Formats: sequence, structure tokens, C-alpha cells
Amino acid sequence: MIAQLLKDGKQTLSFEVFPPKKDDEFENAQAVLNSLAELKPDFISVTYGAGGSRSTKTVEIASYIENHLHIPALAHMTCVGSKREDIGRVTDSLRQAGVSHVLALRGDRPSWMDDEQFAGRDFAHASDLTRFLKETSDLEIAGACYPEKHYEAPDAAADLEGLREKARAGASFLITQLFFENGAFYRFLERKEAAGISLPVCAGIMPITSARQLGTTVTLSGSSIPKELADLIAAYGDHPEDMRRAGVDYAIRQILDLKEHGVDGIHIYSMNRPKTTREIVQAVTP
Ligand code: FAD
Repeated sequence: MIAQLLKDGKQTLSFEVFPPKKDDEFENAQAVLNSLAELKPDFISVTYGAGGSRSTKTVEIASYIENHLHIPALAHMTCVGSKREDIGRVTDSLRQAGVSHVLALRGDRPSWMDDEQFAGRDFAHASDLTRFLKETSDLEIAGACYPEKHYEAPDAAADLEGLREKARAGASFLITQLFFENGAFYRFLERKEAAGISLPVCAGIMPITSARQLGTTVTLSGSSIPKELADLIAAYGDHPEDMRRAGVDYAIRQILDLKEHGVDGIHIYSMNRPKTTREIVQAVTP
């Protein structure tokens, strides 16, 4: 259904949220989701704990989005630390919850996994998970892609080969890793098209609202920081509200440029912050 929207040429708007870290924070998460729902996204994606931990939380939040808010939910799912039976169990609970979209990911190697376990894992790549889900369920599958290449890939061409495999395995649309330089994204789209990979791509945009965010999420993502953004952080990093405004403004300018270039979809890494997300959406919606 999400893939059909994209194929029909709808420029989609979607958000990513993460499940609450503590069991007693579900009500707070609901309030965040209720607020995001007012912005009428085409879908909301829900992250999955590293190594498959707390997968029930992802299903719980995805179920709330799908059944209470009546917005398509895209449940993330990683496979690096999972056996086929584990994936089968999560798939069953998604089916029971009426969730029909999954972002199939390999995931990063969890710290508990030694070399032998890593080498002998059931699913080597996200494409293997995609193929398994296609064979064992009727879920619609999305995949991740990396405009600045995945950190393990020796070069962009090798990364593109992995992406081609994902498409062959049955992924029907893609969501990018966050990026701050639209030029890198446009160059990636050109390489992807030249490689004959025609899947629609939702561009992942993360508003930087604090200097601290760079030290965590952004560093882990491997995305480069353009000078303009580095300068903003240098200027406003010690002034939280000014920094938030500058980060929101940067994301708005990025999205307006992407929309002008006819991007398939905009996926905002909301960081569970409805106020920031609302400011951005209002500024980019005609
Ligand atoms: P893969 O596609 O398997 O790629 C991993 C590496 O293997 C790449 O270098 C690739 O070039 C190579 N490769 C891929 N396929 C093949 C193949 N068939 N043969 C040989 N090489 C291949 N992590 C979480 O833990 N939870 C989340 O909720 C989560 N959400 C994410 C959402 C998005 C939009 C993105 C972009 C990432 C997300 N991640 C999440 C992070 C992700 O799990 C890591 O980036 C992980 O290291 C790679 O996952 P992948 O699915 O891209 O792996």
C-alpha cells in the first residue's frame, strides 16, 4: 500500500519514532503519536531495538499507529542477532496486530555476538531477511539505503550491488540514512538509476536541534557534516533554543530543495519530538 502510493506519484510524508525505553512510558509515547498523527503523515515507522531486543515494543507501538490512529505503520525489523524462528515469531505478532509493512534491516553487530556467532548468523544481509519475509509472509517490505554509502562497504559501487540484491529479493521501496547534503543524495539517485534500480526512495531528514545530537546519532550514521551545518553548531551550540531554531531552519531548507527536485518522499527522523516536527511540516506544506 505504501509502495503503491509512491508508485502513483504521491510525494509522501512520513515520520520515524522509537518505542519508549521504559515499560511505564507507553502513555507518553501515545501522546507523541497522537500529536504526530495530526500532521497527517502517509505512514509512521517504528524503530527496532539493536540486536532484536524489545521487539514486542515495536509491535505494540506499530499496532497503536495502525489500529488506533489508522495510519499505516512500518515496523523496523533487524535480523543480525536473530534465528529464523525469532523472525517468524515477530512476523506472527505483526500479523495478529494487523501491521502489514516492515523495514527489513540487517542491523549492527550486537556487542554480545562473538566472531563465530557473527559468521554463522542465520541472515547474512538485509536481502536475506527480505527474501525470507517474502517467502513466509504477505508483508510489504521496505529497505534501507545510504546516499554516502554504508560504513562497511568498500566503495559506493559495492554498496549499490547490495542494494540491487535487496531489490531482487522483493523490497518495494527504500528509505535513506539521514544526510545533510542534498547533493550527495542527488548523486546517489543518479548512480542508483544508472544501476537499473528503480525503487522509489524516501529521503531521511533529521533536524539537528542540539550540539549533543552530533556526538551520538549522527556520528553513528556516518553521514558527513557540511560546513554550513558545522558553522551553525559552532555559533549556536551553547544556546539551546537558538540551536533548535537553526536546526529546524536547516531541515526546512533541505526539504524545500528536495521537494523542488521532485523527491519521491520525505521521511523525518522525528526523534519523538512533535513540536519540532510540526514546525518543519508546517513550513514545507503549501
Ligand atoms: P545490509 O543491507 O545487509 O548492508 C550491510 C552491509 O552489507 C553494507 O555494507 C552493504 O553494502 C553490504 N551488503 C548488503 N547486501 C549484501 C549482499 N547481498 N551481499 C554482500 N554484501 C551486501 N538499526 C537498528 O538496530 N534498528 C532500527 O530500527 C534501524 N532503523 C534504520 C532505519 C534506516 C532508514 C536506516 C538507513 C538504518 C537503520 N538502522 C537500524 C541501522 C542499520 O541496521 C545499520 O545501518 C546496519 O549496519 C545495516 O543494515 P542494512 O539493513 O542496511 O544492512
